[in-house]
Amino acid sequence: MESRVCPDCGAQMETGVILDFGHNQVRQSHWQPGTAEVATFFGIPIGGGTIKIDTKKMLPVTTYRCTGCHLLRSYAE
Ligand SMILES: [Zn+2]
Repeated sequence: MESRVCPDCGAQMETGVILDFGHNQVRQSHWQPGTAEVATFFGIPIGGGTIKIDTKKMLPVTTYRCTGCHLLRSYAE
C-alpha cells in the first residue's frame, strides 16, 4: 500500500486497522452499504444484537493515522 499524506497538516500517515473485539476473537473492521440492522431469525433478534452482514458486499477497512496531528482517515479498499 502506498504511503499517504495527511489532508489537514501534510505529515505522513501510518497504515493501521481498527480492531473489533468479539467473543474470544479480535477482527479487522469492515464496511458494508446501508444502515445497521439487527439480525433476526423468524423475527426474533439473535446473538444479543448482532448486526446483519452481507459477506458479498463487506469490505475490510484500512485506517491511516497522521504522525503529525493524529487524524484518523479510513478507506474500504
Ligand atoms: Zn495531520
